[in-house]
Amino acid sequence: MWILGQVDSKSVDAMVASANDAANQMAASQDSAAWASATINLSYLVASVLFLMGIKGLTHPRTAVKGNILSAIGMAIAMAATFGLEDVNWAVVIGGLVVGAVIGTVAAVRVKMTGMPEMVGLFNGFGGAASVFVAWVELLKINPHAGDFLQSSIASGAAGLIGGVTLMGSLMACGKLMELKIFWSPWRVPGQNGVMVTAILVSLGICGWIVAAPEQAALSYTLLVVLSLVLGILVVGPIGGADMPVVIAFLNSLSGLAAAATGFVISNTVLIIAGSLVGASGLILTHIMCVAMNRTWGNVFFSGIDASKATSSDDIYTGKVKSTTADEIAMMLDTASRVVIVPGYGMAVAQAQHAVRDLYLLLEEHGVNVEFAIHPVAGRMPGHMNVLLAEVDIPYDKLLEPDQINPQFEQIDVAIVLGANDVVNPDARRADSPIAGMPIIDVDKARVVIVVKRSLSPGYAKIPNPLFAADNTMMFFADGKKAVMDIVAAIKEQ
Ligand code: NDP
Repeated sequence: MWILGQVDSKSVDAMVASANDAANQMAASQDSAAWASATINLSYLVASVLFLMGIKGLTHPRTAVKGNILSAIGMAIAMAATFGLEDVNWAVVIGGLVVGAVIGTVAAVRVKMTGMPEMVGLFNGFGGAASVFVAWVELLKINPHAGDFLQSSIASGAAGLIGGVTLMGSLMACGKLMELKIFWSPWRVPGQNGVMVTAILVSLGICGWIVAAPEQAALSYTLLVVLSLVLGILVVGPIGGADMPVVIAFLNSLSGLAAAATGFVISNTVLIIAGSLVGASGLILTHIMCVAMNRTWGNVFFSGIDASKATSSDDIYTGKVKSTTADEIAMMLDTASRVVIVPGYGMAVAQAQHAVRDLYLLLEEHGVNVEFAIHPVAGRMPGHMNVLLAEVDIPYDKLLEPDQINPQFEQIDVAIVLGANDVVNPDARRADSPIAGMPIIDVDKARVVIVVKRSLSPGYAKIPNPLFAADNTMMFFADGKKAVMDIVAAIKEQ
């Protein structure tokens, strides 16, 4: 009995010890899981704060580079934190990072400045596609009895719907920006607005079906994605010409909203925050662009500009257009004390910004006050002109917005319009013009206006421009870069 008692007591001790070990191990593993989770959440918080600081930085050209770097650091932290998540398939994550980094680097290095809007459009589309696929995979593994089923299934539907519209809408927008014939002309299906409303209602119905019948999710989600792709075509198809900036900003916002929905699907905080930031800032930018073009959202998305209502170019130009030369322009600039340069898309095409910097420095050396009037939709993407002029170190305080420069044009001796057209089209002041009310740069009020472009062809909105035939306007028909270089040479020869 004593021996048995000894044996029992030993085994009880051993059992107690092993139970203690197991409890300690469990506590240690719970501790380490809690630590991992706390570290990931803290990293997400830091990343989110960096995103906010980055966006704040992007609100001014002077702080934009710093803002970009802060956001990139935030993204790096968010990605690094992802490695701490459980059930990570390393091969897929690292493979994705390598492929993404290669595509991103090649695109950033090779895409020309004039191709940036198309690239932004494509990246929006990729964002939408990623949301569609992530939500799809998650939806198929979803457990209808899990506590978060409702959240995940509703979010999957939202990610599929918004992501699909973003993907196809962005491809269409990209095609239009590339001026591909098949995409370019605005078109409508018969009863366009009714068809769109019906498609949206049916899509919402399918979202309800996904929630109500999770066992049929593969079918319902596939239908939802197909319908959302069609919706993307229907939304962007009828939009053309001058409304593209609004569409790009809107699709950017949608890509953010799709990402935020995906964040709810996979319960990832940083994706929800980053997606919401992109969604909200894109919506604000869309609104700012609408205001810059004096258009309502409804007008942009459901009616569009009707270029056929414009006055014919023959009526405007015949017998009234005067052309000039670099030597004549140099003489005019010699007597000027205030000059305003209005850059547009043509400056980007000609890559004339370096020549423009030379002209700016030369004129300032001669005691001329040179400023730049920047329209918010000049070029092919928001801030296009600011980026090009920042590239050649034009001081930020020389860049003036329309509100700042317009009241001063009567005191401007020479205004040089360099490859800009729609943003200086005074036809916008005519009540029955197709672009009536669009805010423009009032360049026609300057004493002398010199327009540098290659022909009398219209701008992006396809509307003739009476500025080219105005009494105080002279046309310098040439490529933007060559024209500015010739003017610089002529000034030096004087
Ligand atoms: P426009 O597109 O109205 O006009 C650009 C002008 O540049 C053309 O008339 C063209 O005339 C001239 N041009 C082209 N290449 C050269 C060259 N190598 N050298 C000299 N001139 C050249 O440009 P704006 O900047 O005035 O207006 C932008 C338009 O684009 C607006 O309608 C805007 O709504 C739209 N848009 C803006 C976006 C944005 O986010 N900023 C995005 C998408 C569209 P020519 O061929 O005779 O030389």
